[in-house]
Amino acid sequence: MSSVAIKTEPEARPARDMTSAYSNRRTFAIISHPDAGKTTLTEKLLLTGGAIEMAGAVRAKGNKARAKSDWMEIEKNRGISVTSSVMTFEKDGINFNLLDTPGHSDFSEDTYRTLTAVDSAIMVIDAAKGIEGQTRKLFEICRLRDIPIITFVNKIDREGRDPFELLDEIEEQLALTVAPVIWPVGQGGLFKGCYDLAANDFISAKGAGTRHFEGGLDDPALRQTLGEDAYAAFRDSAELAAEGYAAFDPVAYRDGHLTPVIFGSALENFAVDRLMDFVATHAPEPRPQPSDKGPVDPSGDKVSGFVFKVQANMDPKHRDRVAFVRFCSGHFKRGMKLDHVRSGKAIAVSNPIYFVAQERSLTEEAYAGDVIGIPNHGTLQVGDTLTEGETFRFTGLPAFAPEVLRRVRLEDTMKMKQLRRGLEDLAQEGLVQVFRPTFGSDWIVGVVGPLQLDVLASRISGEYKADVTFEPVQYNVARWIRAESEVKLKQFIKDNTTQVVRDRDDRPVYLCRDEWDLRYIIERNKEISFDATREIV
Ligand code: GDP
Repeated sequence: MSSVAIKTEPEARPARDMTSAYSNRRTFAIISHPDAGKTTLTEKLLLTGGAIEMAGAVRAKGNKARAKSDWMEIEKNRGISVTSSVMTFEKDGINFNLLDTPGHSDFSEDTYRTLTAVDSAIMVIDAAKGIEGQTRKLFEICRLRDIPIITFVNKIDREGRDPFELLDEIEEQLALTVAPVIWPVGQGGLFKGCYDLAANDFISAKGAGTRHFEGGLDDPALRQTLGEDAYAAFRDSAELAAEGYAAFDPVAYRDGHLTPVIFGSALENFAVDRLMDFVATHAPEPRPQPSDKGPVDPSGDKVSGFVFKVQANMDPKHRDRVAFVRFCSGHFKRGMKLDHVRSGKAIAVSNPIYFVAQERSLTEEAYAGDVIGIPNHGTLQVGDTLTEGETFRFTGLPAFAPEVLRRVRLEDTMKMKQLRRGLEDLAQEGLVQVFRPTFGSDWIVGVVGPLQLDVLASRISGEYKADVTFEPVQYNVARWIRAESEVKLKQFIKDNTTQVVRDRDDRPVYLCRDEWDLRYIIERNKEISFDATREIV
């Protein structure tokens, strides 16, 4: 999404030009457990990529400074990290699109959907803690989609666990082959820097920069640089790391079977540039995306993309709503009319925005792999497909059955309209699922993690001026129901009216007390399917 237009006429553009335009895109996310260092690493990547000038200080002047603080206020209220949803930067001819996964610890649909829009991921692990709960959950999602993962073992500048123990843990717990590529020289108090096992470069922790050793681990100059004791210990461990584990294999990595491991420090900026080089060299370019008419190839010359995230009220002063679109093919230009497949209508994309750190700018063009925000008033929903005259639909964006269900109680009944608006907006963002009972007027909301309820209440109060509380309902399990036979489904719904609610797309959802009740009802209604996930259409 560089501002420099590629000078070719769209109608005369040969296929090769399209390939060269998108093949320098790297669209990726960072997955980690809270506190492992995702924010610090993001900041250092932006710094290395020249998107921000000083660590901890986003470049901001005049109005932009205001926009930034507004943004941060919202993020603070939401209790999630202050990075924006997508950050684009360019280095050495490579366009990096870093998609933020929400920082709070609840597993949310939003996170899952963000991972549908990336081609690879960086997994950050705290060297003192190893694999933690959230890392594992996010990893499982990547595995489901065969997303290649680079592992960054962070905080190597301070006391941590033995590097071999960490490698073995990744290998065993995640069933991934590990290939160490950047290895630590000492650790904690004895930390001297990092060593690139393939390039034979030593990255000094003492600010002495990077030095190449032609003779590799046996180079006498390396011995001299590290000192006798440190050298002996390092040489043994580096040799074991290189010989005892798999060598980096780009094909196995891209297939999601092998993870290259980089030991470094986000805070001290050790090996972050190597990590970035690694993403540039080895991380996959935009991959074909699944659709109901078969995979859509990024080299296709017609524009296509899908909405993977919607965020309401990014700017509280202008009730705006931004739909984040991942492009999958073609050459998008500002002002283009795209077909909104769900409604069958064309929409003119006249003010597409892209994001550099906390700033937003208008973008003139985009290729496969790029992510832009399209401000709109509710036309665009998560899962929507945009095309240039074609009628296929991208697939693979799921909704998950909520695990926590609550009845919404409005403090001031005059605020019904605001509440409805807020629930609709936030349901579109994927923060919450909203269910309408057949009888009674109280909404039932469903979330995957309880923290989302707090976020929901504070956003409805802050952004829609309606105060709500949540009351327990007797149900804890929700399943979408469907059947081959419409008649059977209708009958089931009729027999269970009090337990069937409707989701926002009017699909029937069956609520029951617990898994035991669910098993009982499944057993007695073999012709009905009870789904824990459903595809968003
Ligand atoms: P996040 O929750 O994953 O976004 O983690 P943060 O980036 O906020 O980092 C959590 C804490 O770890 C902060 O206090 C950071 O300063 C610290 N931290 C991050 N990276 C490093 C590192 O490489 N070394 C050390 N010693 N501390 C780090």
